[in-house]
Amino acid sequence: MSSKPDLRVLVGRQEIEKTIGRLADNINEDYRGKNPLIIGILIGSFVFLADLIRLLEFPLDLDFVRLSSYGAGTETSGKVRMALEPGAQIKGRDVLVVEDIIDTGYSLAFLIDYLKKKEPASLKLCVLADKPSRRQVPVEIDYNGFTVPDEFLVGYGLDYNEKYRNLPDICILGEGE
Ligand code: 5GP
Ligand code: MG
Repeated sequence: MSSKPDLRVLVGRQEIEKTIGRLADNINEDYRGKNPLIIGILIGSFVFLADLIRLLEFPLDLDFVRLSSYGAGTETSGKVRMALEPGAQIKGRDVLVVEDIIDTGYSLAFLIDYLKKKEPASLKLCVLADKPSRRQVPVEIDYNGFTVPDEFLVGYGLDYNEKYRNLPDICILGEGE
């Protein structure tokens, strides 16, 4: 392990702030007069979610789920399970799911399928970043912050072995780590 981590800024904090402002404008327009249930996916989305919800101008409820994928290694196996279920009732609610990154799409496809069975009034998806080159299953994204290259990203809530979540910028973690 090298002493100095190989980190390159992909998206700086000012650009993140500007983009979250744009996402919030669109979400405010779509949910005006409504009272949606926002579901964050732990752990990675928590920084993004914290910044986003403070720009939302309608009454909202907040809940979290935690997903985990089976199998060893860094590659997602496609087999996803829910490690923490939502506590809130989904039926009849306008649900907005907030995730950090969509990669293969397995995690979000699983969650969307799970939530749809609980009969929400509506279901939309907001992601901070989309890595479309890696997609294995189609997932419709309603609000996307950034389209990013096929690199491993850390910072702004994203981790590598639980580290780097506190970095204020979205960074590319180099091969050496
Ligand atoms: P999926 O492949 O199912 O779309 O995503 C699997 C999980 O890996 C998700 O929780 C997603 O947030 C995470 N993930 C995907 N790409 C990256 C990345 O570049 N960096 C980090 N830290 N997590 C990622
Ligand atoms: Mg995640």
